[in-house]
Amino acid sequence: HIETATPLAFTEPTAIEVRGARVHNLKNLSLDVPLRQLVGIAGVSGSGKSSLALGVLYAEGSRRYLEALSTYTRRRISQAGRATVDEVLHVPAALALRQRPGIPGVHSTFGTSTELLNYLRLMFSRLGCHVCPNGHVNAPTLNVAAELPITCSTCGVEFYGPSAEDLAFNSGGACPTCGGTGVVRDIDESTLIADPNLTLEEGAVAPWRNLMWSLMPQVAREMGVRIDVPYKDLTDAEKDIVLHGPMEKRHILYVPKNKDRATELDFTYYSAVNTVRNALAKAKDEKGMARVAKFLCESVCPDCHGTRLSEKARSSTIDGRNLAQVTALSLDELREWLPGVAPWLPPEMRPMCDSITSEMTEPIQRLEQLGLGYLTLDRASETLSNGERQRVALTRAVRSRTTGVLYVLDEPSIGLHPANIEGLLGVMDDLLSDGNSVVMVDHDVAVLRHANHLIEIGPGSGADGGRVIAQGSVAEVEANPTSRIGPFLAGTAKVRVRTPVAPAHLFDEGAITLETDTIHTVHPLEARIPKGRLTCVTGVSGSGKTTLVLESLVAGLKASLAGTPLPGHVLSVDAPGIARVDLVDATPIGVNVRSTVGTYSGVLDDLRRAFATLPDAKEQGLKAGAFSYNTGSLRCPTCDGTGQISLDVQFLPDVDIPCPDCRGSRYGREAYAIQMAIEGDVELSADAEMEREATREPAPCGDMAAGHEHADDFESVHTLSLPEVLTLTVDQALSALAHLKKVRDKLQILHDLGLGYLTLGEATPALSGGEAQRLKLASEMRRNQDETLFIFDEPTIGLHPLDVETLIDVLQNLIEHGATVVVIEHDLDMIANADYIIDMGPGGGETGGRIVAEGTPAQVAANPESLTGRYLAKELE
Ligand code: ADP
Ligand code: ADP
Ligand code: ZN
Ligand code: ZN
Repeated sequence: HIETATPLAFTEPTAIEVRGARVHNLKNLSLDVPLRQLVGIAGVSGSGKSSLALGVLYAEGSRRYLEALSTYTRRRISQAGRATVDEVLHVPAALALRQRPGIPGVHSTFGTSTELLNYLRLMFSRLGCHVCPNGHVNAPTLNVAAELPITCSTCGVEFYGPSAEDLAFNSGGACPTCGGTGVVRDIDESTLIADPNLTLEEGAVAPWRNLMWSLMPQVAREMGVRIDVPYKDLTDAEKDIVLHGPMEKRHILYVPKNKDRATELDFTYYSAVNTVRNALAKAKDEKGMARVAKFLCESVCPDCHGTRLSEKARSSTIDGRNLAQVTALSLDELREWLPGVAPWLPPEMRPMCDSITSEMTEPIQRLEQLGLGYLTLDRASETLSNGERQRVALTRAVRSRTTGVLYVLDEPSIGLHPANIEGLLGVMDDLLSDGNSVVMVDHDVAVLRHANHLIEIGPGSGADGGRVIAQGSVAEVEANPTSRIGPFLAGTAKVRVRTPVAPAHLFDEGAITLETDTIHTVHPLEARIPKGRLTCVTGVSGSGKTTLVLESLVAGLKASLAGTPLPGHVLSVDAPGIARVDLVDATPIGVNVRSTVGTYSGVLDDLRRAFATLPDAKEQGLKAGAFSYNTGSLRCPTCDGTGQISLDVQFLPDVDIPCPDCRGSRYGREAYAIQMAIEGDVELSADAEMEREATREPAPCGDMAAGHEHADDFESVHTLSLPEVLTLTVDQALSALAHLKKVRDKLQILHDLGLGYLTLGEATPALSGGEAQRLKLASEMRRNQDETLFIFDEPTIGLHPLDVETLIDVLQNLIEHGATVVVIEHDLDMIANADYIIDMGPGGGETGGRIVAEGTPAQVAANPESLTGRYLAKELE
């Protein structure tokens, strides 16, 4: 007889098995990361959280995409990449949502990136009233399917209604004038005259000066303009010729430099405007554009009024509104508008309407839960904050209804008010219930508490981190005595670093006052900021914090200090005793790999000079300049000192790999020969040790050159070359180079800011937002802080509560040196440590834009109007 087949018992893996991970600072890590659960990764800044989440889990999970590459490129890539993990089993295909999403294109709006606009286009195409070629408005009928001809009852014409494509501003519906961008670039005539007190001969016309048209004043004279009279005294007719005169040929006498005989020349007259137009047409690269850019201004497109849509695309209407008007609604308003559409349609069309609107309901609700209900669909993506963009990406991920995917989220709580954290957790729950796995790196305890499983990396940063110090459920981590986040999760530890100033003394040092008019959705405001204190500006996303601080306070104060006109909406700003405004933001430092921690902090300049004083350097005639990896003679010739080369991969963006000759050190071999004696000894990293061996010339027998005397001892060395110094961490360099005072002082500041774990050669564009912000702050701290207003935009990004303590110490230090500090912040730890709070709100967008509460943390916590106050009260308990 025949037996029926028994299916093989198949157990689905329950965890990703990571074995022997050594990415960056990870110490041969082996651990299991549960699948289909919410996994939180915690740890102080620089401990190795991203190295595990992105460098191991995401990198392995996304490798399958690389398998699409040709075998040739695949081989090149695997040769380039060093094996930094022994094995990763059961890792699903991975998607990462990074802290810094890419810069969106000019055609990207909130509507396109959320895909909601697709549904609206469909709706207008199928259900709208369309205008026929005779100009009659036709009520929607059921056969108004995009591809079907409509028989027009009112005028007897047959015509096609617009397809969804015809209503798209990045396609058939684009306004022809601005190409669907909503803005046009035009010449800003106010920039054309450099100084009206000058004559044309003296260079009154800026484009003639800057765009190299030095003969133009002579041509202008032939056009009938007096060129030896100040511009302001010319007649209107003369001025018109200068600015807008026609392109006519004129005969001039031209005396070339160093010649005494004049030549006759035929020259076309280019008015100031035409000079700019011509340069604009010829500008080929960024440099050329930059020269012209100062004469241009962007303005709202006069034809589509910024709606990006052609007149035709705007002619279809639903319920009396066209597509442009509907995309100008905020999400909250759109949600209210949608239910009114069906009743307005003929009954037979309502089912189609319902099916389209029901597709939109869920994403709208999601976005609202994440606190984005105030955004309008027509908002250009490039004006959204990083946090807002990340949340859009998150909702899109949930919408795609994938299953079995690993989502790696890098600090999803950025920019989220405590009130919106629940919405975020809801999104994560949905990803999980669809059968996905979520790994998130975060420091917000409210978010971490929601995790099914926590992995804490540490205990310290850089070389002092890279181990798992605690893992398990939230309760298990709380109970684990080696955990550093545990006490904060349990609520037994709180970040209390400073004692806020007593209310009565808040304004003892004076005040900065600001008065603004309506801008965006922010109402007219009067704000008062205590001098010499720490002020936090709080409020839900979209409440107006950025507008108040960056667009009003910073922009206004900068203009007032420079003596230029205030921005239109700033009515007054008064800041007695403030001479400098310093915005320390989290944008990446440097766009290319040439900027490193060493160059940015100024340490490398001092080091170059110190190396040039060494006897070996003098003997070879090497000056400080020779030691620059950007321009010096000692730089690696293969990669030109960038430490990497680009692989041209067909059909894909170029792949950068470490330079095969200098292996990323940026220097040629000769640079290794110049060694400096150091204080004590230092342990090089394994890579640097290998490099040191490789670059070492074989020493003749019995002749041990200085610095090579410990050749057998791989552990520590007593002399270092400049490329080797760059492999040291700040903390290592601090002790090894203690004899170089200038270097030591700069390194000490980096150490104090909690950046001691960074290596000097680390490229700054790769730093996290928080690290970049602190590195910028370090270079500011070398100056006098008296009379300075420091502005920070969410400085706690990427910071563990213990890091927040360090940061608050730094801010306190600034204040003790006379500075005034204003911080835009959501982190309750930071807010609780402020002297003064300005709480914006109550909601976002139209429902916000006012100052809801002002005062000390205790006063705001006691204010029933303030949403922030409610959470703060719990924090202060
Ligand atoms: P976290 O995410 O916990 O802040 P990271 O994983 O980013 O920490 O960094 C851990 C360590 O690895 C730090 O010492 C950091 O300087 C180092 N590191 C991070 N990225 C790189 C890189 N691209 N190259 C070399 N070292 C890196
Ligand atoms: P917050 O910093 O509190 O999140 P913002 O100051 O960025 O708030 O925004 C306040 C309001 O102004 C929001 O409704 C926002 O959509 C709007 N807004 C901000 N920037 C722009 C802009 N460039 N164009 C149009 N509206 C903007
Ligand atoms: Zn236009
Ligand atoms: Zn090189």
